[in-house]
Amino acid sequence: MKVLVLGGTSESRTLARRLAVDTRFDVVTSLAGRTSDPRLPDGEVRVGGFGGVDGLCTWIVDNAVDVVVDATHPFAATMSANAARAAPKAGVPLVVLRRPEWTPDIGDRWLHASSAADAARIVESSFERVFLTIGRQEVGAFAGATGTWFLVRCIDPPEGPLPAHHELVSARGPFDVASEMATMHRHRIDVLVSKNSGGAMTEAKLIAARRLEVPVVMISRPAPTEHGVLAHSVEDVWRSLVDRM
Ligand code: NAP
Repeated sequence: MKVLVLGGTSESRTLARRLAVDTRFDVVTSLAGRTSDPRLPDGEVRVGGFGGVDGLCTWIVDNAVDVVVDATHPFAATMSANAARAAPKAGVPLVVLRRPEWTPDIGDRWLHASSAADAARIVESSFERVFLTIGRQEVGAFAGATGTWFLVRCIDPPEGPLPAHHELVSARGPFDVASEMATMHRHRIDVLVSKNSGGAMTEAKLIAARRLEVPVVMISRPAPTEHGVLAHSVEDVWRSLVDRM
């Protein structure tokens, strides 16, 4: 079974590792090519956009793909929407791997934001020292918050405008709770901004915020796509693929 995994997440690498050692599968993982030094999955890898829905559809047909697994990040909404249209167009099934969302614990102070721009409005009106952990693509939404200081953490430096007062830290997870607490304490952080990515890889910042009683501005996920079989774990995807054999 030829499986195209749309990747860019730790689960997509776990899935590729599992499929690559099983001779019943022929796996190719697709990466967008955004990160300069990505962690490469096992098995075959291709890098770069497909050229929209039609490009992806053509790629699926030309490469005799049997099943597409959308294992992209929950905030990669365009790629997911493209997969939801291209897979049926190419006549192949789509399995969508979505890790569960994070939810607040009792006592947590979460402020819900619908977008990065909404999160920027919240922090600008109420906070002074922000730990910004949303990746690099939407940091520009905070550039207008001139009265606020930001600790901006991303893997690669953001392009485009940055907040007037900031420090940039280049780092890649996973992070542990002790180091997240030390970071927040050292920089006198009074709010954490996060996307609701879910998963264990970057959850330590939420535990650190809880322990330090630092509020969290949590950016909600984009609406999920309608098409495809939903799976919540790599194990679920694997079972769904085996069931189709
Ligand atoms: P996006 O906005 O949904 O996608 C924009 C375009 O990038 C897509 O239309 C597609 O180009 C290309 N693309 C995205 N993912 C691709 C993939 N896996 N393989 C080939 N092309 C891909 O995506 P994004 O938010 O920029 O994220 C890019 C990648 O980073 C994703 O693979 C995602 O899993 C990963 N990631 C994203 C976030 C996040 O917060 N957004 C966080 C961690 C990791 P074409 O239309 O030309 O095919």
